[in-house]
Amino acid sequence: MLGSGIIKGLAVTAKNFVGSFHDPERLPTVEYPEKRLTLPEAYRSFPFLVFDGENAIDGLRCVACKMCENECPPQCIYIIPERDEKGRPVKKPKVFDIDLSVCMGCQICVEVCPFDSIKMDQVFEVAATNRFEGLIAHREMLAKSNTYYHQIRPTEAAEVDTRLAEEKRLAEEKAKAAAAAKAAAAAKAAAAPKPVATTAPASATAPAAAPASPAKPAVAAPSPSPSSSSSAAAPMAAAPKPPATTP
Ligand code: SF4
Ligand code: SF4
Repeated sequence: MLGSGIIKGLAVTAKNFVGSFHDPERLPTVEYPEKRLTLPEAYRSFPFLVFDGENAIDGLRCVACKMCENECPPQCIYIIPERDEKGRPVKKPKVFDIDLSVCMGCQICVEVCPFDSIKMDQVFEVAATNRFEGLIAHREMLAKSNTYYHQIRPTEAAEVDTRLAEEKRLAEEKAKAAAAAKAAAAAKAAAAPKPVATTAPASATAPAAAPASPAKPAVAAPSPSPSSSSSAAAPMAAAPKPPATTP
């Protein structure tokens, strides 16, 4: 029949029009902001930092390795690592800022993070009156609990928890195996027979006394003594002098 398609289309429209008044599933609009739709799990806006436990700063998973800062295409992440009282770097961020006015939500920082510390949030109401300072998200604002992560991305968060638990288990097993191997090596070294300490005779141990060199005969060097010279001169003095001849 000519125009039957038009009539069918109008019937569908009429059915939805009437149904939208009494069937919540057919309501075309949500009275935002009083009512909100549940966002799809894959929806993403800006990054946030995940922390475990109760303390938002001490529990941060971030170790300030700066990989996300280096890989962020528009360079909108700024990190300063924490330092201890001796000035040595600590595996915590002292400063972790993200300029939300520059962030493009690409998720590259999430992909490169080796510690599952940074994830994509679903918060999109970040309007501020200040174009610059107002849109810089600091560490305290970025830190959100693992519970929150489970609320917005339950599938992904569960997968991350499972993987982290497995990595922790393997690390503990490896540490236990290393400790057991070390203990076994120490026990083996202790059980090995020690070389017997032999007591050598004193003559063997003590160096033989060097034979005394034969005493050289004392040779009295003939030294002309004044007494001998005088004794030699004495006969000469005792010899009779020839008598003096008178011419
Ligand atoms: S968020 Fe991840 S990649 Fe970025 S500094 Fe922290 S640990 Fe490194
Ligand atoms: S989502 Fe992209 S642009 Fe935003 S901080 Fe991460 S890497 Fe940078």
